Amino acid sequence: MLDEKTKAEAVRRISEVVGPEHVTVHETDRVLNAHDAWPLSEAKIRAGEILPLADMVVFPNSTEEVSEVLKIANDLRIPVVPVGGGAGTCGGTLPIYGGIQLDLKRMNRIIYIDDDSMTVRVQAGVVGIDLEEAVNKRGYTTGHTPTSLRASNVGGFIATRSGGSMSSLYGKIEDMTLGLQVVLADGSIVECKAVPRHSVGPDLKQLFIGSEGTLCVITEATLKLFPLPEERRFRTIAFRDVHTGLEAIRHIFHRGVFPSVVRLYDPEDAAMSFSTRFPIDEGNCVLLLAFDGTVEQVRLDEQMTVEICMGLDGKDLGQDPARYWWEHRYDMYYPTKFTTAGYSIGDTIDIVATYDRLERVYYAMKEAMEAEGAFVLSHFSHMYPNGGSIYMIFFTSQPDAESAWTTYRRIWDAGIKACLREGGTMSHQHGIGLTRSTYTADELGSSFEVLRRIKEVLDPNGILNPGKMGLGVRE
Ligand SMILES: Cc1cc2nc3c(=O)[nH]c(=O)nc-3n(C[C@H](O)[C@H](O)[C@H](O)COP(=O)(O)OP(=O)(O)OC[C@H]3O[C@@H](n4cnc5c(N)ncnc54)[C@H](O)[C@@H]3O)c2cc1C
Repeated sequence: MLDEKTKAEAVRRISEVVGPEHVTVHETDRVLNAHDAWPLSEAKIRAGEILPLADMVVFPNSTEEVSEVLKIANDLRIPVVPVGGGAGTCGGTLPIYGGIQLDLKRMNRIIYIDDDSMTVRVQAGVVGIDLEEAVNKRGYTTGHTPTSLRASNVGGFIATRSGGSMSSLYGKIEDMTLGLQVVLADGSIVECKAVPRHSVGPDLKQLFIGSEGTLCVITEATLKLFPLPEERRFRTIAFRDVHTGLEAIRHIFHRGVFPSVVRLYDPEDAAMSFSTRFPIDEGNCVLLLAFDGTVEQVRLDEQMTVEICMGLDGKDLGQDPARYWWEHRYDMYYPTKFTTAGYSIGDTIDIVATYDRLERVYYAMKEAMEAEGAFVLSHFSHMYPNGGSIYMIFFTSQPDAESAWTTYRRIWDAGIKACLREGGTMSHQHGIGLTRSTYTADELGSSFEVLRRIKEVLDPNGILNPGKMGLGVRE
């Protein structure tokens, strides 16, 4: 928390920049911003714990205002935590050292759509669904459909390297972002020009993508657009085990087929998600597929895929389970089924690995997490030619708060340790925030020092989102 004198000066100077109506010190506003969708922060609030509050929440309206606010914060050495939609799952927006929460929701303009280049320029605060609906009206899709599409905004997507359910075809946000505008801790505005590719040194925008508010505030972006597909078809195949399902996925990509959705549910998740509605044999895995493109292309892709799957003894379940999932993919979250009463807590660990390690990582993590008392169900949620991610959902129920929080942490520790030991990478799309901050050094190895030095140079006073990603942790 800031001392009263610094706080009063900050409020006065920032109010001159954004207008007094866009700076709030009210407790209600600060309490509302004290958590994101990190299950532990939500569970603690349910259990009556008070989380650290920011000193103020500030709502800028332009890049220039963000720049002026950062200059003031840097001058007064005040922590600044950027806030997008506040739906991050890792505690990234929690103001653990107080200071300013810089909420970009007013910066929600779609600046232009360029039909020739098939790009869109947006401010960081545009909510995902608003952008998608706006470009749909012009015959395009962003191809970015995370389940948080209705809650998160473009700045948050980019800051966390988020991934949508159709990333196998359209890519993740780091593939879609062609240009970027950011503001550094000292208030300088940096533009990374929008080009499809370049050969002018390292791609600096990739340094800012995924930096989770620790290196910059993202203010604008130029994103790729894709034509809305003429056809989208669904297909579902059951396999006898995880190994065969993964074999099928590898063969599909190696034949040159890129489905838009490729999700393999392990037996526990298949049973939980589908067996009450569809004829899934006990112990089977379920592969959900979607194909986007022209009518002819989709027909051919689907035909080749089914041939590959049948060659591996797959059982064709038709389109219904996959279509059902597509139509109900938000149900699990609104209202969230993760929040359970008392001291039950659930979370997801979204790891990624190449195919040579993926299955080993899966079994090792499952075993390690179960040994700590977790009930684990998983799907391989975002798949690519060289590997893919596993979305491991876990639950634990404990008699009191203390054992709930320690069991939760032990499950995380065991899961990540097993992931890293078997050669996986600890997050595919959710990011680091606070949840994974203690593992960053182990995950990145020698490159963590590079990241730390970059942080020191770009933010010498350590004002940007201190304590997140394992950077700028204070006593
Ligand atoms: C129901 C639900 C479903 C989800 N599904 C998915 C999914 O399918 N795929 C996926 O990838 N994620 C998913 N998530 C996680 C989350 O929503 C995403 O990671 C999303 O990208 C976070 O965006 P946000 O705008 O909510 O960011 P916030 O939670 O506001 O912020 C996340 C981090 O980014 C930083 N940040 C935010 N905006 C900026 C900015 N403009 N400049 C610099 N830093 C910034 C914050 O400081 C914080 O560290 C889901 C979350 C929920 C609750």
